[in-house]
Amino acid sequence: SMQSLSYDTVNGSTNAACNDGGRFRVLTWNILAQALAVGHDNFVGLPDGTLNWTARRLRILHEILLYDPDVICLQEVDHYNFLNACLTAIGYRGVFCSKPDSPCIYVVNNNGPDGCALFYRNNKFDLISASSRILEIWRVQSNQVCIFATLRLKETGQQVCVATTHLKARQGALLSTMRNEQGKDVANYVAACGGSSKPLVLCGDFNAVPTEPVIETVKSRLFVESAYAKLFGGEEPPYTTWKVRGDAEYCHTIDYIFHNSFCDIESVLMLPTEEQVGPSRLPNLGYASDHIAIACDVKVPL
Ligand code: NDP
Ligand code: CA
Repeated sequence: SMQSLSYDTVNGSTNAACNDGGRFRVLTWNILAQALAVGHDNFVGLPDGTLNWTARRLRILHEILLYDPDVICLQEVDHYNFLNACLTAIGYRGVFCSKPDSPCIYVVNNNGPDGCALFYRNNKFDLISASSRILEIWRVQSNQVCIFATLRLKETGQQVCVATTHLKARQGALLSTMRNEQGKDVANYVAACGGSSKPLVLCGDFNAVPTEPVIETVKSRLFVESAYAKLFGGEEPPYTTWKVRGDAEYCHTIDYIFHNSFCDIESVLMLPTEEQVGPSRLPNLGYASDHIAIACDVKVPL
């Protein structure tokens, strides 16, 4: 099961009324592209049925809705039409940006390219603008993208910016350098969209552990800090993905929520413990992806 994932008011503030600023909850999750899961990822030891799409898609939806987010940022979305149909029916609106040469399309019986998606609650926000960018490395387009949206909180009229990305995967010095270049491009893009002069939440799968250069690049260029580190005394969670591939186990933190000083983080979603993750690691029948959803409550002071 996937319970005991509850919002923890880490800093102790539990304001019920919304009379001193706008509040909204942002969730980010690499949901594991179905085509990659089936044809590309080489996961080992998955419980029977874990990758059955007819069931897994409902577990993805269930897990998203369990947290009741106002903004949903997703990566590795290769079934946008399904998610958009479901989420639109219950009051969200979405934008999608596919990767230019998604590895999904090389998998037999694929459902098209994967990409990033951003959904917002339609009764909470007006969409002012949304755009996307193919990230550049040394001024050459790469296979990674970023979505940027400017939203207006209906309740207070305040504008907030939300951006999401999924940086280049894999280990090694060159890959780390490429991610750092993508981080610079994300920062330039977000700033050019107006994200540096308004409340900003930038989240996603950066494919980089906290010590990788790209993390400091993003923080220093956009004047953002990590929501989890802020509430956890400077520490990121111990892991945001945990999987067995081949004969190796991968357990590290590569997903982040960054925010600038125009907004405050009131609470963050606790991550599952090792016991909750379970011995087969991820994904499994309780957790639909190899990545763990992370989320926070954001407040924009008036
Ligand atoms: P990335 O390197 O960014 O990775 C693509 C996806 O693969 C990511 O979503 C990533 O997940 C996942 N991944 C990361 N590490 C591994 C691993 N060790 N084994 C399996 N999957 C992993 O890809 P790009 O978008 O830059 O595209 C390049 C890739 O696309 C190539 O590496 C190739 O595999 C594939 N490709 C295949 C083609 C073909 O003809 N078969 C043609 C073109 C591309 P996460 O972010 O969760 O780590
Ligand atoms: Ca993946």
